[in-house]
Amino acid sequence: MTFTTRFAPSPTGPLHLGHAYSALLAYDMAQVRSGRFLLRIEDTDSSRARAHWEVQIYDDLGWLGLSWETPVLRQSQHLQTYNDALMQLAARGLIYPCSCKRRDIRAALAAPQEGVVQSGPYPGTCRARAMSSRQPGDALRLDMGRALKALSTLPAFTEQGPAHGGHHMLDPARIHTDIGDAVLGRKEINTVSYVMAAVIDDARQNITHVVRGQDLFQTTFLQILLQALLDLPTPVYHHHTLIRDAAGKRLAKRDDAQAIAKYRADGTSPKGIRKLTGL
Ligand code: GLU
Repeated sequence: MTFTTRFAPSPTGPLHLGHAYSALLAYDMAQVRSGRFLLRIEDTDSSRARAHWEVQIYDDLGWLGLSWETPVLRQSQHLQTYNDALMQLAARGLIYPCSCKRRDIRAALAAPQEGVVQSGPYPGTCRARAMSSRQPGDALRLDMGRALKALSTLPAFTEQGPAHGGHHMLDPARIHTDIGDAVLGRKEINTVSYVMAAVIDDARQNITHVVRGQDLFQTTFLQILLQALLDLPTPVYHHHTLIRDAAGKRLAKRDDAQAIAKYRADGTSPKGIRKLTGL
């Protein structure tokens, strides 16, 4: 199979040095293997995605010297596909509606309810609710206990990144405590969470290698679980080290000081950016 990787930014802010590293690393890996490099715009969060950030992404990546196949997949145009997959899981009884607000969750975690098995960071308050009781504004959660029971074998993935290289099998106890009943459908009707949309697109774009930051390593366990439930292939993962600022702090999108646009305005060259990322 042709080595195929992607860079999948969310257009919710400027690309910074960390994004440049991710994109360049994925691009270089595809180049040396005569593979394919795709760009995917993860804009399902309509409250935060902005057209001008998307334009800036194309502009910055082009300036860095990257090229990608067109047309670019923009997730906002495929909401129905993601929602259909979510409904497939719902039809198997693996999804339930949840009206808990952050503060309800905090309160319930502080005073666990009798008879409700807590699954990780979510206390399970709404777990007994039927899909038919979904109200506008409810999120949709995965029933982690049922999802694990629905698997015939434990999913696994190969990691090629520097920190966790090797073979990793999903650990049911850990996924309960670390992730629990994850939100897969957001409160806006027909909008799925990023983890779900990414899994579906990685499969239909035939992604063989996912190259992304180490901050998403734990998310991979939820994603391989979703792949197993939806009968989708699991790519190889390469979680790279994170670019930190001078003080050693992880870069966030709001650290506009590290925005590629800022470096460009200050006269840094694309080569200079490669150097700054350690490539
Ligand atoms: N859209 C995600 C982000 O910007 C990318 C995650 C991924 O590469 O799977 O963080």
